Amino acid sequence: MMTDQPAEDAWRKLGGAPGLCVTCVHAKLNETHRGTAYLRCTRAAWDDRLPRYPRLPVRECAGYEAGHEGGQPARP
Ligand code: SF4
Repeated sequence: MMTDQPAEDAWRKLGGAPGLCVTCVHAKLNETHRGTAYLRCTRAAWDDRLPRYPRLPVRECAGYEAGHEGGQPARP
């Protein structure tokens, strides 16, 4: 299956390893017009334990839920 190239590019533009967020269903990547990207935690909208814009890389997270590939190519 093909990976989503634009999403993969956006993850690269974060400029650092996102940690857990990369595979979390609550992570949303936003790109700016200037070509940078930032990560927003959508779960933070209703879960007070979490920051809306988590400091990366996230190593531990109470709200983490595995579920998406985050644009990362699948590795064998
Ligand atoms: S719930 Fe945690 S791991 Fe998931 S996107 Fe938010 S900060 Fe990242």
